[in-house]
Amino acid sequence: MRIALYGGEGKVGVVLQPALVAAGHEVVDARGSGPEGCDAAVDFTRPDAVLANVEQCLAAGIPVVIGTTGFDLGALDNLAREAGVPCFHAPNFATGAVLMMRFAEESAKAFPRAEIVELHNEAKRDAPSGTAKATAARMGTDPAIHSVRLPGLVAHQEVIFGGPGETLTIRHDTFSREAFVPGVLLALDRVRELPPGLTIGLDALL
Ligand code: NAP
Repeated sequence: MRIALYGGEGKVGVVLQPALVAAGHEVVDARGSGPEGCDAAVDFTRPDAVLANVEQCLAAGIPVVIGTTGFDLGALDNLAREAGVPCFHAPNFATGAVLMMRFAEESAKAFPRAEIVELHNEAKRDAPSGTAKATAARMGTDPAIHSVRLPGLVAHQEVIFGGPGETLTIRHDTFSREAFVPGVLLALDRVRELPPGLTIGLDALL
């Protein structure tokens, strides 16, 4: 496919760009040229840039895979529905993070008391992370979320459950941004078959 990439020079983008090419895609830097003529687009930019980028794609009828977090997902869903174009967003494209959320949802049924600690690189703009908010929503027990921002970290999360005389800790660590590549490739493979509007979460594709 011909892919319009927004954010190709960012920390995720520099890993994603060569991986998309290695997977057989042609990659266009959409920041200057726009997405016209592309089959799909990918956005890993920033919360205050993503909606304008997506609107450009929707105007051209191009489906978008969105990795950017910390923006209004409801607004994006409305825009995509109005345009009749499918879009996909995962708060976390790492396979292990998807499983962590699944296990946390399951564990919350037995342990109503839990707290989430999410740890990310100091450059991350939004807090709490999209992954932590999505995990809490799936648990349904309104866990407190603690955000840590420090150099040296990539993306990490612990969900700690406490009960009488025991705790259970579910932890996921992303050590390199290569962890996001398989999920983005899967989403690109599937996004054009999705219904118009926004589909959220890799679980919907696995
Ligand atoms: P980053 O290093 O700050 O990179 C963002 C890139 O986007 C920068 O190169 C920036 O360029 C560029 N950019 C800014 N505005 C733009 C625009 N209007 N059009 C095109 N490009 C633009 O951030 P990152 O660590 O790669 O993360 C990017 C986003 O993905 C963040 O929201 C992060 O939370 C999210 N993320 C999601 C996942 C997931 O699995 N869903 C995983 C990791 C990260 P300038 O520096 O020139 O502004």
